Amino acid sequence: MAKVSLQKCESYELSELKKSLLMNIADMGGLDGYLIPGETVLLKVNLLMKKSPEEATTTHPNFVKALAEILSDFGVKVIVGDSPGGPFNIKSLNGIYKGCGYDIIPDEEKKIFLNENINQVTVKRDDLFLLKSLEVIEILQKVDKVISVSKLKTHGMTVFTGAVKNMFGTIPGIYKAEYHFKMPKIEDFTNMLVDVCINANPVLSFMDAVVGMEGAGPSSGDPIDVGAVIVSDSPYHLDVVATQLVGINPKEVPTIERCIERGIVDNDFRDVEIIGLNLTDFPERSIRRPKVGGVGFVKWNLPEFIKKPLINLLNPKPVFDYDICVKCGECERACPPGAIVIDKEGPKVNYDICIRCFCCQELCPYKAVEIYRNPILSRIIKL
Ligand code: SF4
Ligand code: SF4
Repeated sequence: MAKVSLQKCESYELSELKKSLLMNIADMGGLDGYLIPGETVLLKVNLLMKKSPEEATTTHPNFVKALAEILSDFGVKVIVGDSPGGPFNIKSLNGIYKGCGYDIIPDEEKKIFLNENINQVTVKRDDLFLLKSLEVIEILQKVDKVISVSKLKTHGMTVFTGAVKNMFGTIPGIYKAEYHFKMPKIEDFTNMLVDVCINANPVLSFMDAVVGMEGAGPSSGDPIDVGAVIVSDSPYHLDVVATQLVGINPKEVPTIERCIERGIVDNDFRDVEIIGLNLTDFPERSIRRPKVGGVGFVKWNLPEFIKKPLINLLNPKPVFDYDICVKCGECERACPPGAIVIDKEGPKVNYDICIRCFCCQELCPYKAVEIYRNPILSRIIKL
């Protein structure tokens, strides 16, 4: 039985955050069951890109600071880290730490640090579902324990991004694009995400759901007040409760579907014990979804020459707003199959090779990429 603790928190005031986090931790039976004083712990936060905390794209720095100080008081050394999208080097990391407000977090006296190790290592595994080996950030292997500190957000490819998908950031920078490219099918991609999470093995997972993101997540959506802090000993079950909290049927989320198929999560969620507050203690919400889905016909047994034009016509696809685009080239660099070319007007996509990973939308710093889905045809075909 997995435990998921729900507590309320309406603001990013440090004292409020600490109060809630301490209640969550008490619900979980205290830190003793998970950590030993003297250990080094990686707080794997979500630092997708350089965005101010108010934009709700990244785990809020005050949330991380409050948690890091609680852990420091318990007696562990804390390293805060992530491998954001784009290159994994010191210059880019420092820019993101600063841009995301993380320069308030380090405290040498309290043994709280921002990760500066940009090495990567190969891990061989023969017990995962899909992956036999993974490239991971070296810091993952250097620490004693890992804690996931995710942000509640919608996601253009996977509907929702929470504790499980947060661990994709243990894959160094550009390797993430390679994984997208090698696993264009959503089933493979999300099985890979579950494998990556199993490999990272977080002993505890915390979710910053004080303010989440709805609509065009994970980076171009709008902040939404959720007012919650969620903590669990299972990232898989945390995502089940987090989706329910914002009105998403967990079975719509491909990572959760994979967990059910693989027996990690019970089909009827009878293996989740919600502690602290109940879902009914929070206002009922129906978070605005990203424009995703509609790839059902890809599974139909159609000849390729019919399937490809259908995919282009009906599948959601990235479109670019040339009035907003500044031609920075970030989307072109991020595109796993190299489907984007930037000309005088802006980015152009070869939809025949586009794998609909939506990395371009995810990593555009200017919110110039939207996901378009043909509203009439997709309703007629009921995708
Ligand atoms: S990342 Fe955004 S702003 Fe930059 S070129 Fe692509 S669409 Fe334009
Ligand atoms: S164009 Fe965008 S959605 Fe298509 S493959 Fe490239 S990054 Fe992914």
